[in-house]
Amino acid sequence: METLLSKHWHHMDTNDSVTLLGTDADSGLELSDLRRRQAHFGPNALSERRGQGPLLRFLVQFHQPLIYILLAAAAVTLALQEWIDAGVILAVVLLNAIVGFVQEAKALKAIAALSRSLRSENTVIRAGERQRVPSESLVPGDLVLLQSGDKVPADLRLLNARNLQVDESALTGESVPVEKGTQALDAETVLADRRNMAYSSTLVTYGTGSGVVTATGDKTEIGRISEMIATTETLDTPLTRRIKQFSHVLLYVILSLAAATLLIGLFRGQPLVESFMAAVALAVGAIPEGLPAAVTIMLAIGVARMAKRRAIIRRLPAVETLGSTTVVCSDKTGTLTQNQMTVQSLHAGGADYSLSGSGYAPDGEIRSLDQDPGSDRALHWTVRAGLLCNDAVLRFREGLWKVEGDPTEGALLVSASKAGLSREELDADYPRLDALPFESANQYMATLHANPDGGHLIVAKGSLEALLSRCTHMIDSSGEPVGLNAAEFQSVADAMAASGLRVLAFAQRAVGEDVTNLDHSHVSSGLTLLGLQGMIDPPREEARRAIETCHAAGIAVKMITGDHALTATAIARQLGMIMPDQRAEDIVVTGAELAAMSDGELLDAAKRASVFARVTPDNKFRLVEALQSAGHVVAMTGDGVNDAPALHRADIGVAMALGGTEVAREAADMMLTDDNFSSIESAVEEGRGVFDNLKKFIVWTLPTNGGEGLVILLAVLLGLALPILPVQILWINMTTALLLGLMLAFEPKENDVMRRPPHPPGASILDGALIARIALVSVLLCAGAFGLYEWELIQGATEAQARTVAVTVFVLGEAFYLLNCRSLSRSVFEVGLFSNPWIWAGIAAMILLQLAFTYLPVMNTMFHTEAIGIASWLRATAWGALIFVVVGLEKAWRRRTSSRPLKAVA
Ligand code: ADP
Ligand code: MG
Repeated sequence: METLLSKHWHHMDTNDSVTLLGTDADSGLELSDLRRRQAHFGPNALSERRGQGPLLRFLVQFHQPLIYILLAAAAVTLALQEWIDAGVILAVVLLNAIVGFVQEAKALKAIAALSRSLRSENTVIRAGERQRVPSESLVPGDLVLLQSGDKVPADLRLLNARNLQVDESALTGESVPVEKGTQALDAETVLADRRNMAYSSTLVTYGTGSGVVTATGDKTEIGRISEMIATTETLDTPLTRRIKQFSHVLLYVILSLAAATLLIGLFRGQPLVESFMAAVALAVGAIPEGLPAAVTIMLAIGVARMAKRRAIIRRLPAVETLGSTTVVCSDKTGTLTQNQMTVQSLHAGGADYSLSGSGYAPDGEIRSLDQDPGSDRALHWTVRAGLLCNDAVLRFREGLWKVEGDPTEGALLVSASKAGLSREELDADYPRLDALPFESANQYMATLHANPDGGHLIVAKGSLEALLSRCTHMIDSSGEPVGLNAAEFQSVADAMAASGLRVLAFAQRAVGEDVTNLDHSHVSSGLTLLGLQGMIDPPREEARRAIETCHAAGIAVKMITGDHALTATAIARQLGMIMPDQRAEDIVVTGAELAAMSDGELLDAAKRASVFARVTPDNKFRLVEALQSAGHVVAMTGDGVNDAPALHRADIGVAMALGGTEVAREAADMMLTDDNFSSIESAVEEGRGVFDNLKKFIVWTLPTNGGEGLVILLAVLLGLALPILPVQILWINMTTALLLGLMLAFEPKENDVMRRPPHPPGASILDGALIARIALVSVLLCAGAFGLYEWELIQGATEAQARTVAVTVFVLGEAFYLLNCRSLSRSVFEVGLFSNPWIWAGIAAMILLQLAFTYLPVMNTMFHTEAIGIASWLRATAWGALIFVVVGLEKAWRRRTSSRPLKAVA
């Protein structure tokens, strides 16, 4: 079998490739052979790759302005021969880099693992049977069918290509799709020009084709150029970018303050060393070291929480963006509805029929008041068309009838079987010769069959609008063609749609045997309209609830569908998407109307309407743009190839893991494992929770830096010795961030997350009230540390003891304030004192560490500390409790005076 590898497949003709690969161009591999090959070649998957080198990623951790300050501080202390201090600062820098590195690696890995956990599938022919199989199971020699939207699963020598176009940018970087063919090529043809090959990881953007697998897994072309698929994943989010900007500003503030500190010290005639240490202390104290790592950790926790709620994040920034989403544009079919299609009404030969039975079980019958179903030729041909022009398969598994393929087509199989038609017999009588697959943009599908009565037969199905203009005749119940009565069909279809049914029309056309390849021109005119089938697709109950939640959360929900305006409106009404005060003409806009609008009108319509019907992917893109131009943060779902641009453009592109194409998935930021609208709502909810917790962390952490800065400034201005030393500041910052602050990441979502409006896009993270609170706590921390430091000195304590007390004030103050920060508005008692056990575990660990810091001799040497008495501990605790009470009162006062009611949109 080794001979199968590394051949010039593009240089061979199709027959040779098939022979050499030991397979059959019609029936594919035999099962026994398949199993042997699977054992030999292993799974069709790329082995894990390194991505950006770990060393580089580690070094990048040092490339932050605030770290530069720390490194400079280390250099200064080294120059002053303060070996221990320099050592501690360097240790902190290193620790910081390690924490950052590990966290980033974990976050990246988690996202990659989640993406991988979604198996992709392909259609193959094995032992003569067409089936969907996991891409991992492919082996050289397998016969793979391709259609637009697929990701090519392995390297293929193409055997068939119908208008096949492939986007090879993953492999060649060239983003213009390449037209494919099957002709053998020169041996020297370079990869990018091998028109008769389809390579793994490239995307089918148009047409259909088939090919035989020549290489799998790491042996594919993409597998050989490992760097190209290495993750270019970024961990940058709007928030981390803002924090970066903030640190740049902070850098200059800190540098000037440090310089001022130095100058003031020198001016006052203090020794150089002391002034330098004060400057270093200020610089070190003012830097929120833990912030960047905390952000990454919290976002990564968000990814895990969302995955539990069936939303797989493909790009980390999405976690945060989700929290500020203001509009969700969702598909109807399958996302807002159950995708459980059942034909309920039929119209053919001038008569209306109803069908009994439910789901995909083929039990039930066709009834009519005015016509005997058995004698209506039009009815017979309508259901026959639904069966012939169909790619779905019904299977009975685990006691249930299930559809493999498009549920719309599944429903047509069921209705045909209720009419007594058998697929086997029909397929034998009318073998399929060719097909034009369904594309949303065309709204129809057509197939070409051999006709047992001679000649060939084209069968088409699609929306009535798409077929009506192509039809010249219709048929009566005896099967005779008569002049087309478009108005009759239109009114029947509208009535079906108005009751929420999805309507498909069926048509056919007899052609000569010379037509062997189907083209869109063959169905552009001369068709005979046969009848209509209307199917229900009940709304999802959980989607209705999720929409209600979104409305309460100030998030608009818009239905974007290819379906008929009346059907869409009926479903939207059932889902509670339509406001009672909405005027009828404001509810729905069609794609055709959108296309005719100017940008201004479009913007108006985008904001006003809740349903967009008969929409093309083009319309979707413009909709996203319009909403964004009005300042909205837009989540948009999509499943087709042509949806990729809109998904890219949206702030959150959402793809489906079950239905939908690979192309759409590649373009998306998030995937829903259950294709369910309610999972988008859950993700938004989690996103808001993450954003809240980040905000809580920031509000908690900044007063530490503020308080420390103030203490140093005050000491320098008053010409006093430093109440806290640089290494002690680092101790406070690092240990409290890890043991106290990070515990806020485990804070459960507050129960009003979905009852308040979204965070306004572009608005700053902290509002005036929070900034005031940060200032207040900074002052309180400074006052406590400074006051108790001086008090201890007056009482006759040593300098080291007084400093130990000052550090204790910071640590305990932060611990008490942590409780306040568990909610930014509500009282901690309302939140539940013990509802987040991590907080208490963190506080307990922090106290243990602080005991070590105070009483262990090594720590005493490293951090210049000294044992203190119980009275000092009590005083520090009392001050911490005071902070807790003051902030508690401040929050209560805000709650009372707050003009913005929290339950704004109830
Ligand atoms: P959506 O997914 O938003 O419901 P589609 O683009 O799938 O919209 O469908 C639009 C219209 O195309 C439907 O109303 C129906 O008339 C027609 N249609 C849908 N699926 C098929 C299909 N498999 N074959 C032919 N026509 C179809
Ligand atoms: Mg669809």
